[in-house]
Amino acid sequence: MTNIITHHDIGWRVIICQCSWILQYLCGNNLPYMRFSQYHFVDEIKRNLEKLEFKKPTDIQYKCIPNILRGEDLLAIAQTGTGKTAAFAIPVLHILHSKIHTKREDGIKCVVMVPTRELAIQIHEVFQSLGQNTRVNVFSVFGGVEQGPQIANLEKGIDILITTPGRMFDLVSQGFIRLNRVEILVLDEADHMLDKGFIKDIRDLIRFLPKKRQTLFFSATIDDEIKDLAYSLVKNPIRIQVSPKDPVSKNVDHSVVYVEMDDKRYFLERMVKDNPESKILVFVRTKVRCERVHAAMQRVGIESVFMHGGKEQQDRLEVMSTFKQGKIQMLIATDVSARGIDIPDVDFVVNYDLPEHPENYVHRVGRTGRGRRKGMAYSFCDEQEKPQLAAIEDYIGKSVKVLELSKDGYKEVKDLTLSKTMDLKQIVGELTTSPNKRYGVKKAKKTR
Ligand code: ADP
Ligand code: MG
Repeated sequence: MTNIITHHDIGWRVIICQCSWILQYLCGNNLPYMRFSQYHFVDEIKRNLEKLEFKKPTDIQYKCIPNILRGEDLLAIAQTGTGKTAAFAIPVLHILHSKIHTKREDGIKCVVMVPTRELAIQIHEVFQSLGQNTRVNVFSVFGGVEQGPQIANLEKGIDILITTPGRMFDLVSQGFIRLNRVEILVLDEADHMLDKGFIKDIRDLIRFLPKKRQTLFFSATIDDEIKDLAYSLVKNPIRIQVSPKDPVSKNVDHSVVYVEMDDKRYFLERMVKDNPESKILVFVRTKVRCERVHAAMQRVGIESVFMHGGKEQQDRLEVMSTFKQGKIQMLIATDVSARGIDIPDVDFVVNYDLPEHPENYVHRVGRTGRGRRKGMAYSFCDEQEKPQLAAIEDYIGKSVKVLELSKDGYKEVKDLTLSKTMDLKQIVGELTTSPNKRYGVKKAKKTR
């Protein structure tokens, strides 16, 4: 049933499994792939897969694992939430466990590079749970925390290092990390890692790696320019692309609501109050807006946490863990949390502001509808953001469903806000005071 087209293109073997969606339609999510128990992985990994209740590979795992085990270079593109992490973690752990014997050899054998610290921690955890009781040592380093403890751990002997490029470059330059034994390089969120902000760091680091190595790129989005750049960094890669037509996850029902900029907070308030049990992730454009929306929600009795690149690392970790554990039901974040973060039970993503870069629409809405779950995403679009919406539609190749609101419906949302009952002076005062100031607002509702 699967129609695999293989063609040669500038020396590239391109495998595009175009009809995987037919399989998914016919079989639901239960693709007829063999179970993990039938794979020839080392027993420890199989047991860990069982513990995690990963019974069958996802589409992207099914297609990537054999190629990675054969030592191929890979460019793998699949929608958000489809299990790309395990698609590289399982075979990498299998390869390294099979190679490492009792005597620990020095030097890191696999480097996984990711754009954010939170993602480094998350991927570290995935490697740890899949690699439990194997001979493989996993560790992560990232900026914003002291180097000392990281260096002490590195000296113990690490096989897989998960890292953000900045800290890694510092440690390599100071001689604390040797990369001369690296056999596998993984770039997760590869298009972002090869984008302008990161490419210099990546190129600098690649200079330290052995030329003969396996390179794996993983992402949910990629454009032609970045693809060419990725190709220039490897020898003879295989490209595996799942569901190439629509980059937005099929599990996400996404739509846009036209809301005036100044009314957005009323709509967010309404949404939270109408869905008191739901976990909601709200994306805003800037750090300042992040803190303002947080304060605006506090004023109407809604507790939230916020996250942006300007926060201290310890705060970032605490915020993430509070939200992941469901202690607080709403996280307001900038695009620093748009990529890769896996919080399994986010019910709604709200684009309070439309993203600046259209691909981030795909990543933001992809924070819901993960694995087999379904999710909803709403974008609040003001008149002045219409060009951004057009860019998003152009990028995803289709228009975003519009949620029509009657005039009366719109007015009702505004009329019902709690903040209308407050003194305007107080509101203006609060918007200009410190974002961290506590207003003593009681917790609005039960959280999960
Ligand atoms: P992606 O990187 O593609 O966005 P992740 O690797 O973060 O996705 O995985 C998304 C979710 O799917 C995670 O919660 C993960 O535990 C789950 N998952 C991954 N592989 C499987 C599998 N084979 N069976 C069941 N769940 C899986
Ligand atoms: Mg990922």
